[in-house]
This record gives sequence, C-alpha cells and structure tokens, in this order.
Amino acid sequence: MATKKPKVSYFCMEYGLESDFNIYSGGLGILAGDHLKTAKDQGESIIGLGILWKQGYHKQEIGKDGRPRNAYPIYEYDFLKETGIKVKVKIRQRDVYCKVWKVDCFNNVDLYLLDTDLPENGGGDSWITGQLYGWFGEERIAQEMVLGIGGVKALRKLDIETDVYHFNEGHAVFAGIELIREKMEEEGMSYEEAVEATQEEIVFTTHTPIKQGNEEHPHHRLRYMGANQNLTTEQMVALGGAPFNMTVAALKLARNANGVAQLHKETAREMWKHVDKAAPQIEGITNGVHRPTWVDERMVNAFKDGSTEKVWNSHQDVKRDLIDYVEEQNGVTLDEDKLLIGFARRAAPYKRSNLIFTKPEVIDKYLEDGKIQIIFSGKAHPLDDTGKEIVERLVEMTEEYPESVVFIEDYDMTTGKMLTRGCDVWLNNPRRPKEASGTSGMKAAMNGVLNVSILDGWWPEACRHGENGWAIGTEPKTAQDFTGTYDERVEKLDEYDLKNLYDVLLDEVLPTYYEQQDKWVKMMTESHDDTYEKFSAKRMLEHYYELMYAPAE
Ligand SMILES: *Cc1c(COP(=O)(O)O)cnc(C)c1O
Repeated sequence: MATKKPKVSYFCMEYGLESDFNIYSGGLGILAGDHLKTAKDQGESIIGLGILWKQGYHKQEIGKDGRPRNAYPIYEYDFLKETGIKVKVKIRQRDVYCKVWKVDCFNNVDLYLLDTDLPENGGGDSWITGQLYGWFGEERIAQEMVLGIGGVKALRKLDIETDVYHFNEGHAVFAGIELIREKMEEEGMSYEEAVEATQEEIVFTTHTPIKQGNEEHPHHRLRYMGANQNLTTEQMVALGGAPFNMTVAALKLARNANGVAQLHKETAREMWKHVDKAAPQIEGITNGVHRPTWVDERMVNAFKDGSTEKVWNSHQDVKRDLIDYVEEQNGVTLDEDKLLIGFARRAAPYKRSNLIFTKPEVIDKYLEDGKIQIIFSGKAHPLDDTGKEIVERLVEMTEEYPESVVFIEDYDMTTGKMLTRGCDVWLNNPRRPKEASGTSGMKAAMNGVLNVSILDGWWPEACRHGENGWAIGTEPKTAQDFTGTYDERVEKLDEYDLKNLYDVLLDEVLPTYYEQQDKWVKMMTESHDDTYEKFSAKRMLEHYYELMYAPAE
C-alpha cells in the first residue's frame, strides 16, 4: 500500500542558509538551514517559517583594547520575493501587520519569512523583527507571537496544506495556541477537543539541556501581550506551568518529541520526567549536516581515491586555504607543517574555551615553539559580560603567543566552513553533559579533521578512540561524580578533564601527527568513512520521517 508522506511545516526562529544572510546565530539555525536544504535535495515537502530579521544577530568585532564590541548594521537582500501576502497578529491590543516573503535562493528552499518592518506598524512594532535574540521580556514574546501565530496565519493565507507542525525549539509554541484558537473559534470545538486535535498535529524538537536555557514567561505578561489568545490563565497554566515554560508547553502540545543526540535523549528524559501528559517518550534523533554545504569537494574526491598521498595532499591544499584566510583576517602566518587545532564555539563558561591554557607550565613550550597552533572563534552574547570576558582572555592569549594562537572575530558560516575543513584537529571540551549534539564536529569529521573531544553530544556515537579521533577521557565524568559543594565538584571535574586533555594531546595526538603520518591519514579516512553517511542531514531527515512525521498508528 502506497502511503502518502505527510506535509510538514517547520517553525524556527533562525535559519543558517548562507553566511551573509544574517538571520541565524548558531547551531540551531544551521541545523534548520541544513534541514530545509536537505528536504529540497530529497524532494520532500517541508515548508520553513521564520523571521526576516532587520539587523539579524549582532556582529562582534574586537576593539583595539581587546574587548568585543557589537555592531548592528541593517541588512537588505535582493533575493527575497514578494508573496503579496500580509497577516495580522494582535500584540498588546494592537494589530501588527506581518509581510510574508519567500526566500528565492539556495536552490529555492521552501522558506517563508515574516517581517513587521512596515510603515503601518509605526515606530515600535516595526522593530519587533529587529534583532535575533537581542531582547528579552515583552519584545521576545512579541517576536515569538509573530513566528508562531503569524506563521500559522501565513500558512492559511498562502493556502499551504499541513499535516505536521514541527516546532524546532520552544520559541514556536504560540503556534500551538493559535491552532487551538482556530479549532475553538472556527470549528466550534470545546477547549479539550481542540487541545486533543492539536496534539495530533505537532511534533517538537528540544535542544537545550541547560535548565535556564528553557525560556519562561510570567502569565500576566503573556496576557498583556495577548499571547494566550482567548485561553484562560488556568488553561495556559495547564499547558506551560507557572511561570509559563515554553519547553513544557511544547512537550504537552506535541504528539512526538525528540532530543538531538542519543545522550541528549537520556538527559532530556531525565530533565522533563516531571512533566505530566507530555509526549509519551522523548526520542533521540541525532543531528546531521548538509554535506554539499559543509564538506570540501576536494576531500570527498580524495577519500574516494583512497591513496594516502591524495588524502594528505588534498588536506594540505585545504589547510593552506585556511592559512591564507587567517592571514587576510589577522595578518598572522601560520605554519602548514605544524599541527593546527580549531576551536569555535559561542563564548559560554561551560564550553571552557580557555581550558587548554590552564597550566602554562605544561602547555607553554608547545605554543612557544609552534608545535601546537590554535585558531579560536566565537561570539559572546551582547548582554553577557562573562562571555565577553572569555573572548577577552582568548584575545590576550593571541598576544602572548602571536605566532601560534589566533582569534578570528565575528564567527559566521564562512569562518565555520574554513575551520572545519582546514584544521588538523577539532577540539571540543565542554563540561558534560551540556552539549545537546554539536554539529561542527561532524563537519570536521567528514572532512578528515580529527575530533579531540569530551564524550558529550554526538561524539559518543561516533568515537573509536585512537582510530577515528580521540576522546578526552575514555571514562567521562560529570560534576555529580565528585564530592563537595557544587563549586568544588565543578572544579574537580575541570581538573579531571584538563589532565585527560593534556594526556591525549601530548601523548597521543602530537606523536601521531609528527611521527606517524601514515597512521594520521588512516585515521582521517576512518573519520570520514564513519561519519559521512551516519551524520548526514539526509540520514537525519529519514529518521524524522520515521519517528516523528509518520502518522500515529
Ligand atoms: C556548525 C556551526 C555551528 C554549530 O556548531 P556547534 O558544534 O554546535 O558548536 C555554529 N555556528 C556556526 C557558524 C557553524 O558553522
């Protein structure tokens, strides 16, 4: 029996389609972009809904004083097509008009973007779609109302049929409230009937294993904004608790939910086990990456060819491109014959960008003689002073080791691409278990850039220690495995991970790189072979159809 594939409408705050199309901030957006690109490649019917950000995510440059500073240019794009459609969302009792654009580039991915920057919205409301993650409180809620409520209304006006509404992260949850409202007001259902029918249509992907990352809003504010539509506070509390937690509400409104790696599935199940009447089981669908975007063609061909020389020479070509890029950006000339480590992450304390510098008495001599070279990149959130300090410390390190440590400002997709194909090693050392998945390591692995990583996120699913990359600590621990106050536990975990990092780097990575080039190339090949299919967005999409989009039995 031929079954028809469900039609999916995919909601996300951000999309990373191309470097200069500044409507993304990081991993979530890159994933969403890769999801849509892959759907297009495979001829699947997935429509994306998002926001046309006027200023996008902040640009971050390093001032002469070594501090990150932010800039907010206004963007205009010439590849957006008018749909002729506008929808109205009532926010703070005012009608806010949202113009609907169709993105007309990147092989014509099916993406529609909402935009409030219109004269009829007046000064205030025209800025709702101003900055991605720039604001909190009322402004964030207004943005989420545009995405969720405006998104559903746009689908109706565009006459796009939808079987499954996929919320990629909790930001989209007001779309669920809109679906309930439609059924009550337009189809005459009771609240209970409407909730039940809506649950049949929604699937939800959670991405945030850190409690504070799961957004909450007080009910009085949701009422003031009009985000509850006509639902009562009791009904809203029943969905999202008090305060209203976007993830909890999404879990309750969804028929299926998933985390983004197998380890993250376990973490998410534990984290949300108290949520009554949530989607039955949180599934695990490990992220994947869009290979044509992220894997260098020269490496794909080299691995097909399979000879040691071809793989090594192609890698050196790609590495030289990166070295040229760094020279253009920073004026520093790195050495193509010395080990080059890449580390690019949002500047957040748990990612521990500085970990490798902790003990100068151990690491100093390798950085002094350039046996280890490191390129860093990553932005701090504009309102996050701790994150900015992390960037400042990294910039200080570039002054300490001007020939072997580099910081590339304003991390974006171009820098991400250059680094994940041109380095020798991709380093990742977050505190476990806080990385939901991570996709930069997958990009690296497919390009033959060897991962040296804590066994967190996706890496436990791929790592064969010493064969296709390395684990930092083959017996990984979390702060819970130590004793003392919370701070003491974290300190002990950091010490444990640091020792393991130095051990693997100095005793295994360096000798292999400098003394056993054949083995290194063998590992590059294994790295590519183990990941090219398994962590492709194509495989990921198949799992979404199987576990999430397929109609319930
Ligand atoms: C791939 C990518 C990410 C996601 O990487 P993580 O592994 O989650 O850190 C973020 N930003 C950019 C620019 C990327 O290219």
